Formats: sequence, structure tokens, C-alpha cells
Amino acid sequence: MAERGAPPDRRAARDTLAVDRWLRAMRARGGAPAPPRRLPPAPGRPRRTIFDAGHRIDRRADRILRREGEPPVADEAANQAYDGFGDTYRLFWEVMGRDSIDGLGHPLLGEVHFGRGYDNAFWDGERLIFGDGDGRLFRIGAFTSSLDVIGHELTHAVIERTIGLRYDGQPGALNESIADVFGALVKQYALGQTVEQADWSIGAGILGPALRGYALRSLSAPGTAFEGDLQPAHVRDYVPTDTDNGGVHLNSGIPNRAFYLVAVALGGYAWERAGRIWYRALVAGELPGDAGFEAFARATVRSAAALFGPRSAEAVAVAEGWAEVGVLRRPMRAMATQTEGGEAGAGRRGSGRLWIERSGGIAGLTLRASISIEELTDRERRAVRRCLAAEAGGSLRHRRRAGGAPPSPAGPDRFVYRLSLGGQEAVVGEDRVRGDLRRLLERLVGGGAPP
Ligand SMILES: [Zn+2]
Repeated sequence: MAERGAPPDRRAARDTLAVDRWLRAMRARGGAPAPPRRLPPAPGRPRRTIFDAGHRIDRRADRILRREGEPPVADEAANQAYDGFGDTYRLFWEVMGRDSIDGLGHPLLGEVHFGRGYDNAFWDGERLIFGDGDGRLFRIGAFTSSLDVIGHELTHAVIERTIGLRYDGQPGALNESIADVFGALVKQYALGQTVEQADWSIGAGILGPALRGYALRSLSAPGTAFEGDLQPAHVRDYVPTDTDNGGVHLNSGIPNRAFYLVAVALGGYAWERAGRIWYRALVAGELPGDAGFEAFARATVRSAAALFGPRSAEAVAVAEGWAEVGVLRRPMRAMATQTEGGEAGAGRRGSGRLWIERSGGIAGLTLRASISIEELTDRERRAVRRCLAAEAGGSLRHRRRAGGAPPSPAGPDRFVYRLSLGGQEAVVGEDRVRGDLRRLLERLVGGGAPP
């Protein structure tokens, strides 16, 4: 019957079977039956599904922990992700009039419990993936507990579907900054905070004992969130580096502070004016994927003029905010020609040792380790040499010098590994690291080992 009737019958029969199955399951669990929810896609309502990665890293999770409309479950991380998705959806829908990440009600999918002790959360292009944290760099459960981290990650999905900013160098830092700005706004909107009440940080309270500080990043005072936070707050301090996709989590401090200055100058609720101005610049379709700070700054000035008038207080505040951080007064072209300094990387060391660097991740932290090649097993040594051979000449710096386009070794907030051995160097995104090599890298710098 379920398979053979005419189409409408077939659907009805299937629905009935589904309801029967559901009732049986409820009875078996001794729960109080309530009518199952049917949620047709409708603007103004998120469509959330949270999956359980089950501590694995090597496949798409298919075990569902919580679906749209279902009550809270026993898994706290699943509930936090579900609620965070809802708060993010609400800011974009209620303030910006955007129906989900694509504007068309796209489902919001999340995966919790990715890897073991995995110290990160990232947007993989389809799902928001959450590690549990290792309890050392990040508290256990840190990433799902942080609303601005969730807002940050889902904003990467919005950026991907609007400007599509390249995740490298200055466009990458702008990408990171826009994700921080809307992450902060998601939290402020959910808590009903004014610009004075807001803490203007990302990831407050999620750091573990190994990181001394109060948050991942500060939008109001970049470079002060934790010990070793090197974010600049002004263009003159722009950090040229090839670590972390060209310092995307460092140089984002500059546009972050510009947004903070504009929001504070305008007062009240940041999402009402500063947020709408930034959003319009994001979706207006005027910017290319390689837009830098200056192009985006000019777009926000145009956006403020279009929304509030060319001589409005809003337009003036935006222009002044960007001038204060040096973006509109000093074109970034000058910065791009600076000589390389900063990060020396793992490359210029002795040859008997393997040097590992892990950068990127939502925190943009750089961890380094080294090991004598004598201490590697044969399998590990082979895996390292295979990687170095495959990625020969893969250094971003070398490619920049050669005038070629730098590769984008990993997606937003993924880890990037650099291996260096006897003058050979490879830069590789974590999604391309598997097996013996991945186990070795994780043993040396931690995070996300498969079961
Ligand atoms: Zn990010």
C-alpha cells in the first residue's frame, strides 16, 4: 500500500506509517504523545538539524540528535548549537530581512562532538562542525556554549553566498572581521544589549587554563583578549605573514575596531544602524571576492549614505571610524608592498628535525613543535616525505614571490599545517591530512584525533 497507491494516496499512507512509527516509539519510551510537527519551509522560521559526529572526523555524521521543532535533548552541546542557530537566524531575519544563510531558507545543519579533544569550530561549506575542546586550550564544550562563535561561523556561510571573499590575506582578514562583527551582533541582539552593555568580544569565557585571557578576540581593543593576542588595531600595524592564510585572524582586528568605533559613535543598539550599514555593504553586490579593507570601507560609506543620507550622522560616523584605523586615509596598496617580516615560520631550522606549525582555526592560534626524524616510525617518515613531495614549492611565500596566486589551503577557520624538513617545506590544509600523517601531527600539536 505504501509503495503502490496513486501519488496522493501514497503520500498519505507514508505519512500515516510515519505517525504510527512515531506513536509506537513514544509508547515504547513511555512518553506523553503529542501530535508530530510538520514544518513546511516558511520565511521567518529556521530549519535546524543537529547531528552527532560521534567523535569521528572521517565522514559526514548521519545520526540526528535534534530536529527543528523538537524539544531539548539530553545532549547539551546539541541544544546549545540548536539555540545558537536560532539566535543567529533571528538576527539575520528580524533585523536584516534575510531568510537563513542564502536568503532562501536554507537548512541550518550542525555537527557536534567532532573528533576527540578537537579545539575548533568551523564552517565546512554545508555544516557547522563543532569540536568539544581539549580542556587545556579551550574548555570542554566551549564552542557550542559561545553564541558569538556560532554567529561567527554561520556568517562565513553568508559571506560565501554574497561577496564570496577569498580566504587569504586582506580579503581573508575582511572575511574574518565580517564574521566577528555579525557574531558579536547575534549575541548583542539575543541579549538585548546596547553598545555600552556589550562586551565587544568573541568567545568570552571559552579559553582553557593554557590560554590566559578572557576571550578569543576583542573588537574594541584588538590585541588584548589573551596573553599573546597579536591583533593590530590600526593599518600601520598590519602584519604581513604567510601563517594562518596570510594572518586572517590577526589583521581582522583593524576592520573589527572600525566597526566598534562606528557603533559606539552612533550609540544605542549596534544592529539597528552600524549593523544594517555593514550588512548592506555585504549584500549590495558591488564588491569582488578579492576586495580589501579600503574597498569594503568605501562600500560601507556608500551604504550609510544610501540608508541614511549622504550627509547623515551615520555616513559621517562610518567615514570617521575607518579613518581612525587608518584605512580610508592610507590606501592599503601601500601595505601590500611592505617587505615580509613577522612570522619566520618553521622553515629555516636544522635539517635533522621535522618542524611542525599549526595555524588557523577560529582562534588563529599558531602552535609549533619539532621532533628529531630519528624518533619517527618508518610509516611516519614515509607519510611526511610523501606530503613534502606532493606539496613541494607549496609555501605561500614562495608562490607570492613567484607572482602566482596563493593557494587557499583550507576553508574558513580550518587548521593549516606547515611541515618543514631539511629545507623542504609544505603547507597543507587539515582536510587533506589523513592517516599516519594526521596522527603524527595531532600527537605533536594536539587536537581532533580519530577514535
Ligand atoms: Zn572565522
